Formats: sequence, C-alpha cells, structure tokens
Amino acid sequence: MTQRQSRSGIPPHPRKPPIVGELETLSKLPVRTRGESLSALEHLAVLNGIRYGLTPARIAKQHGFSKTTVQRIKNRIYQNPLSIFELRVISHSGKGMYQCVFCGEAKARLSVAQRHVLAHFFAHHIAQNIDLGDIPEVF
Ligand SMILES: [Zn+2]
Repeated sequence: MTQRQSRSGIPPHPRKPPIVGELETLSKLPVRTRGESLSALEHLAVLNGIRYGLTPARIAKQHGFSKTTVQRIKNRIYQNPLSIFELRVISHSGKGMYQCVFCGEAKARLSVAQRHVLAHFFAHHIAQNIDLGDIPEVF
C-alpha cells in the first residue's frame, strides 16, 4: 500500500510505526474463511484503511473482508468514537510513553495520546472535543 497523507494532517513518524509490523503479520496469516468474524488485528487493518480515507469497498477488497463488515466498523466508530480504544491502538511502552500504533508518535500522557489517535479519524477540532469519559489515565 502506498503511504498517503492521512486526513488528520499528522505527518508520518520517521520510525516505522507498529501498524506496519501488525499488517505484515496479517498478510502472512492463512486466507480467512468467509463469514468468520474479524480478529483484533483485522479490525486494526480496517481502522488503518479508514484513517487513510479509503472507501469500505477498497478496504474490503484489500484484505478479503466483506464490504458490509467494513461499513459496520466504520459506522460504529463514527457513532461511538471511543470504541476505537477497544483495540490496541495505543501501545504503552514504559512509564509515560503512549505510542500511537498508526504513526508511531509517542505522547507522555494517555489522554493526549487518545486525542492524537482520534485526530487520525476526525477533524482536529472534533477530536479535541470528544468526551474521553472515564477512561483511566494509566493502564
Ligand atoms: Zn498517530
């Protein structure tokens, strides 16, 4: 997949972001059975396509998922943005290091990292105003 500028305008991090390794792992897995529900890794691949602004049809074709499934995931994140955090989109790599799996950028605070991740999917002013609720600050 060619690297495209994400809609958030966040420039790609110079180091290889975790998602690259995750997608490599996914590409090496055996071909999925039709009708099987998506794994966490496959969900992550869908989110990665959405953040690049790809259509559900294109994401579905790229990974062999059903278009309906991709559309359902997309609808879900726009209805409930915090559902993004049900997946491992932030990796906690030591004290005060919360790394975005999509671009590799690390933040010192979880809430800042969460806003950063949301900005991959929503316009900046929307991402800044989404209620993060009671998500604990420390994992
Ligand atoms: Zn990021």
